[in-house]
Amino acid sequence: QAKVEGKNRYKFYDQSINDEMVKKIKLRNEIRQGIINKEFVVYYQPQVNIVSGKISGVEALVRWRHPIRGLVMPGDFIDLAEETGLIIPLGEYVLRTACRQSMEWERAGLTGIMMSVNISVKQINSLNIVQDILDIIDETHMIPEHLILEITESVAMENISKTIDIMNQLREKGITFSLDDFGTGYSSLNYLKNIPINHLKIDKQFVQNLQRQTFEEVVVRSIIEIAHRMELTVVAEGIETLEQKEALTSYNCDIAQGYYYSKPIPHQEVESFIKGI
Ligand code: C2E
Ligand code: MG
Ligand code: MG
Ligand code: MG
Repeated sequence: QAKVEGKNRYKFYDQSINDEMVKKIKLRNEIRQGIINKEFVVYYQPQVNIVSGKISGVEALVRWRHPIRGLVMPGDFIDLAEETGLIIPLGEYVLRTACRQSMEWERAGLTGIMMSVNISVKQINSLNIVQDILDIIDETHMIPEHLILEITESVAMENISKTIDIMNQLREKGITFSLDDFGTGYSSLNYLKNIPINHLKIDKQFVQNLQRQTFEEVVVRSIIEIAHRMELTVVAEGIETLEQKEALTSYNCDIAQGYYYSKPIPHQEVESFIKGI
């Protein structure tokens, strides 16, 4: 009896693993086809100078305009794109689109807008990453000083000396780096000392739990102080309320990003945002 049950249980287990795999394979094929069909679009979320309220840049965020499911958010496909290596062509597409957009704004007289683009660990570790990025910059005539590449701690942790080498090669061309989602994961302050970044993004989890005299308040104030001593620009992500904005202003945060100002929007809406329409 127990044996039969055991067997069935295994069978059930196998079946669910199988279902999971089939789902993943389907999604992988859909992502691959979606890249070919140009179903991926780039939205831009404004980043503003927290004191003046003026736009300083945008973050490029990918979305999938799926023919059946509608607009799919990165949380539903980025991990699998990473696992399967499809993040490499997808990431290149996002970077190329963002650089082109940046140049279109320049040409239209909306000048000096910084363009932040997320770069995944798979991309950083890919064979010709430096040349691939430089080729895109050449091809789109992007101003390298306007490009910020956002990496997460996990990206940088994996092979720190190789990552630093790649970052330095790109920094020589004028590109800068931002450390994304700071405060989550395995951040160590010591590690901030070695990684050649210019900007630090405080994770929205801290911003959203900000209240007077909480752990988060202490952490956020301390991060900003340390970052400023290291001459880094501090960006707070996930600002949703006036209270959060005011708290971060009083802690001398430099740049703000969040729904309080704007959600990620298509490029035409960024143009209206800048013109204050
Ligand atoms: P991230 O780089 O930390 O981007 C910020 C995320 O926070 C975005 O989610 C943005 O829409 C969201 N956000 C901004 N302000 C607020 C706010 O006030 N409240 C709340 N609740 N959320 C806010 P999104 O667009 O869903 O992207 C999620 C993550 O997917 C990104 O986190 C990034 O890690 C990844 N991702 C997005 N686009 C790309 C891409 O082109 N390449 C790579 N490698 N990763 C990407
Ligand atoms: Mg980011
Ligand atoms: Mg972030
Ligand atoms: Mg985040």
